[in-house]
Amino acid sequence: MTAQLIDGKLIAQQVRDEVAATVAKRTAAGKMKPTLATVLIGDRPDSAAYVASKGKACQELGMGSISEHLPANATQEEAEALVKRLNADKTVSGILVQLPMPSHLDEERVLSLINIEKDVDGFSPLNIGRLAQKGREPLFVPCTPYGCIYLLEKSGVKIEGANAVVLGRSNIVGLPAALLLIGKNATVTVCHSRTKDLAATVRQADIIIAAIGKTEMVRGDWIKPGAAVIDVGINAVPDATKKSGQRLVGDVNFAEAKEVAGFITPVPGGVGPMTIAMLMKNTLCAAEIQDP
Ligand code: NDP
Repeated sequence: MTAQLIDGKLIAQQVRDEVAATVAKRTAAGKMKPTLATVLIGDRPDSAAYVASKGKACQELGMGSISEHLPANATQEEAEALVKRLNADKTVSGILVQLPMPSHLDEERVLSLINIEKDVDGFSPLNIGRLAQKGREPLFVPCTPYGCIYLLEKSGVKIEGANAVVLGRSNIVGLPAALLLIGKNATVTVCHSRTKDLAATVRQADIIIAAIGKTEMVRGDWIKPGAAVIDVGINAVPDATKKSGQRLVGDVNFAEAKEVAGFITPVPGGVGPMTIAMLMKNTLCAAEIQDP
């Protein structure tokens, strides 16, 4: 292996330790306890598991957590009323509405109702708009892309002036990751399902952020020697040697890429642990904004 492994688990633990120490100081000083309210609508088992792990992280870091659950047939009015109630609740510092919502609900309307000071997921149009504009600062950056950039910076990868290729343009990962890289003075190319000759584009990249959800699609010979590779993808593949019958792999063929790249994140243990760590950091930040 030639690439330096970026240990997301370790870096995430460092972020969590820092957050826990600041939370303890705030609590001792009688300030607002950072408290995350999660909203789960419907019964998707993956969404329920994500929400549970976010609540658990809050408890581990000495933060408060409130979990709200609406049934899959909840109306638009019920979803909006819940967000408005949490906006008004002075004990709640951050609100996270777990996505995807059931398809009959207007996701954009619900997200746009979240008070910008409580938008710890960073998905409200106001926060994304600020992220997109030069000279404006969002209050919160979406957690997964925030974690990707944090990993690059902690590993000493130079972003300024680098050619960065982001694979994927979703609202939650690809697009905000590209905006963050532009803000840090990288030259950014965003690829998606209609991009022609993906491999040739990726070969130009000093930094690759792969977020397409396609099992090991990025091959070793797509990677410029020495490039930094951040693999966001989480894909389950069958594995008879595992108790669950499956294992998780990324969007990058790790075995090939690690022989060419300069830096690489593993899956699991790379970006995954960073997402919750950055959510905890954002929730602390929300409490600091509301009760400095
Ligand atoms: P989406 O499905 O919302 O977006 C996928 C993006 O990839 C789209 O922009 C799509 O293009 C593009 N794409 C799909 N197929 C191809 C292809 N063959 N070639 C080029 N581009 C393609 O996914 P998400 O952004 O939500 O998630 C991406 C991956 O990251 C998933 O594996 C997900 O599980 C993982 N993830 C991991 C997180 C973590 O904490 N580690 C958090 C969030 C996601 P188009 O726009 O044209 O459709």
